[in-house]
Amino acid sequence: MQSTKLKPHICLLASPGMGHLIPVVELGKRLVAHHDVQVTVFVVASHDDASNSNVHAVPNNNNLFNAVTLPLANISSLVNPDASLGEKILVLMHKSLPALRSAISAMKFRPTALIVDFFGTEAMDVADEFGLLKYMFIASNAWFLACFIHAPAIDKKLLTDEHFNLEKPMELPGCMPVRFQDSLELFLHPNEPIFDFISSIGMKMSLSDGILVNTWDDLEPKTLGSLRDDNLLGRVCKAPVYAIGPLVRSPDVASPSTKTSPSDSRVIILDWLNEQPSQSVIYVSFGSGGTLSAKQMTELAWSLELSQQRFIWVVRPPVENDVSGSYLTVVDNNSAGKLEDYLPHGFLTRTDKVGLVVPEWAPQAEILAHPSVGGFLSHCGWNSTVESIVNGVPMIAWPLHAEQKMNATMLTEEIGVAFRSKELPTESLVTRQEIEMLVRKIMVDKEGHSSIRVRAMELKYGAQKATSNSGSSYKSLSQVAKQCEKSLQELVTLGQGA
Ligand code: UDP
Ligand code: UDP
Repeated sequence: MQSTKLKPHICLLASPGMGHLIPVVELGKRLVAHHDVQVTVFVVASHDDASNSNVHAVPNNNNLFNAVTLPLANISSLVNPDASLGEKILVLMHKSLPALRSAISAMKFRPTALIVDFFGTEAMDVADEFGLLKYMFIASNAWFLACFIHAPAIDKKLLTDEHFNLEKPMELPGCMPVRFQDSLELFLHPNEPIFDFISSIGMKMSLSDGILVNTWDDLEPKTLGSLRDDNLLGRVCKAPVYAIGPLVRSPDVASPSTKTSPSDSRVIILDWLNEQPSQSVIYVSFGSGGTLSAKQMTELAWSLELSQQRFIWVVRPPVENDVSGSYLTVVDNNSAGKLEDYLPHGFLTRTDKVGLVVPEWAPQAEILAHPSVGGFLSHCGWNSTVESIVNGVPMIAWPLHAEQKMNATMLTEEIGVAFRSKELPTESLVTRQEIEMLVRKIMVDKEGHSSIRVRAMELKYGAQKATSNSGSSYKSLSQVAKQCEKSLQELVTLGQGA
C-alpha cells in the first residue's frame, strides 16, 4: 500500500505591488517545485489590476500551490491621502491582519510556517499566535537588509544636528558604507514616527526564525558575511540569514495581461525582437509605477533618437507642470491620453523602424531574456535589477525612490555592471547629450561596452550556479524547508499534525 507523506505547509504573505508579489509567488513556486512542501500565498488585495491578475495567472498545480486573496481593507479613515506609498501599504497590511488570522484558522491543513515580506512584519505576531515558524522575506538585497538591522543603532541626535553633513556615509559594520543621500528618505528624517517604526521592524526581523533574501552568496559576500558574523552585524541580527536568490519569473510563464497590455501586444513585442540583431536593443523601463517629468521625457526621447540605437521604451504619462526629475506614480490607465501628446512631435514616425514605444506595461521578464536585448535603462527596482543580471544584460541606472539609489550605487560602484548619470535624475534634469553618451557607452563604445558586458556575463553565470542543485541558494532554501519538515514531524509526534 502506498502511504502519502505529509508535506509541510508553508504560508507566504505578499504585500501589494508587483515588486513584492512577483518574487513572493516565485518563492512559493520554487518551494513547491524543489523542496517537497505545499504552499499558500496570501495576497493582500490592492487597486492595482496588474497585481491581481498576476496571481490569477498562477496555475493551481496538484493543489500544492494555492493563492488566496485577502479582501481589500478600507484604510481611508486611517491614513492621510498625502501619506507616502510605503506608509499606506504598512497601514493596509495592518488592517489585513484579522483576515489573515481567520484564513489561517479556517485552513484544513495546518500551516507549519509563515513567511512574511517586509511590509507584513507585524504578521509575525499572527505566526506566534498559531505556534508557527516565522520567517522574513526581503524582496531586495542584503545591503538593504543591513541598513534595517543597523537602524536602531543610528544616532538620531547626530542626524538632526544642523551641521551634520548628509554626504557623510552611514557606516554599516563590515559592509560598504551607505551615503545618507542614497539611503531611504526615512533615514533623513529621524524625528518622524515612521523612523521608530522602521527601527522596530529591524529588531523584529532579528527575532524571526530566519531571514530569506533575494540575493546570493557570490553577489554580496561582504554584506552577507557581516550579517552572519557575531562580531559585526550578526551581533544584532540573531536570525540566520538565507540568501536564496535570484528569484525571477521564468520567461516562458505568460506575463500578467492587464487592461493596458493585452496579449497581442506581447506577441507584437516578441515578434519585433525576433527581427532584431543580437544584443542590439536597449530596453527602457521604470518599474511598475515609475514615470518622468514632461521635460525629462522629451530629453530621453531625443537621446534615444540621437543615439541611433534600437529600443523598447515602456512609456507612462509624464508628471505635469514640473521642471525636472523622475517620479513614482500611481498608474491611472484612464488618464493615459495618447502617446503623441507627450512625446516630441514626429518622434513615433521618425523612430518607427528602430524602436517600439509600449504604453504602460510590457512583458519585462521575456524582453530581458531575449537575445536581441543588449542593455537596460532601469529605475533599479531590485526585481528589475535581478532580472537584468540573470540575463547578463548591463544597465544604465536611473534610480527613482525607495532603496533604488542604493541599488544604483551597488551596481555602479561595487558590482560594476552599470553606468549612471552624474547627477541623480530625481534631483536634476539629465540632458539628451548625457543620456545619449550613456546609451552609446553601454551599447557600442569599445571602452565601456566590452568590459561591462564581460562583467554582466560573469554575474549571469554566478546567478545560475547559485540556484543549481548544488548551489548556495538551493542549499539555503533546503535548510528552511528542512526546518519546516522537522517542525511538522515534531507536531505529528505530539498528535497535532494536519
Ligand atoms: N508549481 C505548482 N503550482 C504553480 C506553479 C508552479 O505546483 O502554480 C510547481 C510545479 O511543480 C511546476 C514547478 O512549480 O512544475 C515549476 O514551475 P514554473 O516552471 O512555472 O516556475 P519556475 O520555478 O521554473 O520559475
Ligand atoms: N514589470 C513588468 N512590466 C513592466 C513593468 C514592470 O513585467 O512594464 C515587472 C518587472 O519585470 C519586475 C516588477 O514588475 O518584476 C517590478 O519590480 P521592481 O522591483 O523592479 O520595481 P517596482 O515596480 O517595485 O518599483
